[in-house]
Amino acid sequence: MRMSINVQILVGAAAGVALGMLLGALPADAALRVQGLYVASLVGGLFIALLKMVLVPLVFASIVVGIAGLRRQQNMQCVWVTTLLFYGATLAIAVLLGLLAANIFRPGADMQVEMFADAMAAFEAKRLPFPEFLTQFVTGLFQNPFASLAQGAIVPLVVFALILGVALVQGGERYATINRLMEEMLDLSLKLVGWVMVLAPYGVAALLARLIATQDVALLGTMPTFVLVVLGTTLFHGVVVLPGLLWLIARVSPLALWRGGRESLITAFATSSSAATMPITLRVVEKNFGVRPATAGFVVPIGTTMNMDGTALYEAAAALFIANLVGIELSLGQQVVVCFMSMLAAVGAPGIPSAGMVTMAMVLQSVGLPVEAIAILLPIDRLLDAVRTTVNVEGDIVGSIVVEALNPPTADATAVVHQQTLPTRT
Ligand code: ASP
Repeated sequence: MRMSINVQILVGAAAGVALGMLLGALPADAALRVQGLYVASLVGGLFIALLKMVLVPLVFASIVVGIAGLRRQQNMQCVWVTTLLFYGATLAIAVLLGLLAANIFRPGADMQVEMFADAMAAFEAKRLPFPEFLTQFVTGLFQNPFASLAQGAIVPLVVFALILGVALVQGGERYATINRLMEEMLDLSLKLVGWVMVLAPYGVAALLARLIATQDVALLGTMPTFVLVVLGTTLFHGVVVLPGLLWLIARVSPLALWRGGRESLITAFATSSSAATMPITLRVVEKNFGVRPATAGFVVPIGTTMNMDGTALYEAAAALFIANLVGIELSLGQQVVVCFMSMLAAVGAPGIPSAGMVTMAMVLQSVGLPVEAIAILLPIDRLLDAVRTTVNVEGDIVGSIVVEALNPPTADATAVVHQQTLPTRT
């Protein structure tokens, strides 16, 4: 019997963890370990490169087609509003959870910042004052589309695709050929994703093996309270809050969520990149949760670039950790600022590994905390990044199912769409 790709990825993940433990147990210079890590980097890198290869045409086509489909179904407005409300609300819950846990457990209060003096002195802090971030963010939204296509700049690409989608629909029959071209491009890109998926179990195994073999567990032990607070709260958000909302709104059980979303969640953990995982997320929500391509094509790319619950939670908790470490008591007002900035920082962070670390500078600066303190967090970021990326992607999956449930197709819209869509994807 042939295993489904979903099960194959699970087996790949288990094999990767076992292999990682094995390689990790070998001395650092053992030939087997060096060669094993090299092969793992090669296979894992190839998997990520292939995902990134299909990402750009896929994001572009899925948004344009999504917008066109939604406008045709005449529920564009509602989908917009529900998407933004759901993403905004879950981001806010995540930040509040992070702040609450950090206030209760006070990580860093029992440590001295001098312990990290060397690391902080050697760290070249990238300052990111809020006005600069805002200018960068706003002007970064609009770019020559060919430049963003070529550079793989996802955020301006999403924005351009949104605008183009609206224009295409307004133009109606005049642009029927481009419309059709986009639909075919989307179909074709998803076919390529299907091919890349064949490599997914091996890619996931390789990435996890490398992660486990090279993660310095002792480093995590140097700041146990902080690591536990972040992991515990992020897991709480991913295991209780998001599935709870999904159950309340769409009546999809947590088990169905994890089983159906497994391919995407495991890939997110292994790659630490929600952008690289997006092709799989899009496939998963359509195939396993029956989200219509029009909704998925809109909600998933927007979520991938902007909705990062795990990152928002982390930024807030980390700011409080650093405040405790340097002995600054943040007032309620300052915590409100941290809350707001963490949400912005998560929205602005691109879906790539450790991106949250860069935008964190802005959160720290907003309340006068030393940006150099990021140096303390970097060495332990690999595992934490893997966990928060998984929750980021889970938020996108939940978001698309919820938005679909809140905007069911109307009878006449279904008829129109059926006339216009391509034959079913394989
Ligand atoms: N790695 C995260 C993601 O891709 C972003 C972050 O660093 O928090 O979703």
